[in-house]
Amino acid sequence: MDKAAFYKLSYGLYVVSSRKDDLFNGQIANTIFQVTSEPPTIAVGINKQNLTHEYIQASGKFAVSVLSKLAPMQLIGLLGFKCGRDINKFENLNSRLGKTGVPIVLDHTIAYIEAEVVNEMDCGSHTIFVGRVLDCGILNADEEPMTYAYYHEVKRGKSPKTAPTYQTPDNVEREDRYTCSVCGYVYDPEKGDPDSGVKPGTQFADIPADWTCPICGADKSKFEKGG
Ligand code: FE
Repeated sequence: MDKAAFYKLSYGLYVVSSRKDDLFNGQIANTIFQVTSEPPTIAVGINKQNLTHEYIQASGKFAVSVLSKLAPMQLIGLLGFKCGRDINKFENLNSRLGKTGVPIVLDHTIAYIEAEVVNEMDCGSHTIFVGRVLDCGILNADEEPMTYAYYHEVKRGKSPKTAPTYQTPDNVEREDRYTCSVCGYVYDPEKGDPDSGVKPGTQFADIPADWTCPICGADKSKFEKGG
């Protein structure tokens, strides 16, 4: 069995959000598909360990925000690499509540779909939630949706010229750069990380020990030399 075949499947990149009472959470997901058009029905696959899974089971509602190709890694990092048990992801996000009462991400979202759970299937590590669509709409008709393949190519820097969200300007491997093994962010000493108080010109070794990856929050030990 050659599991490389799985990489030939095409996916998008979405935010799946839900709520539990007055608490909101959302996460990045790629496994979302339309099941039927009449009645309009979609399905999502969510890991049981994720907080969003708990919220979907609690409220029976979820929303899908379709991300634009121009969505920055900071947004994907916040929603995809950080845990809603540690931070309130929606605190600094531009969002609004949909008809279901579930938050829809408005930053770099081109379309949204809200649904009410009508069925769920236990798939071991994940649950597939089937949702009857209660509302949906286009938020930005001019931008293209992010695909999963595009995200991975951009993240790995294989096509920087066509990759507006990628942060490293070249394909040259440099020893003084360090790469986050969790999310792929590259620390460049020439740029530093001014948002976290690390001035341009600071070598990786000289960054304070409590500094964390600006994208995913991993600590310094998760970084590997080169990038
Ligand atoms: Fe990271």
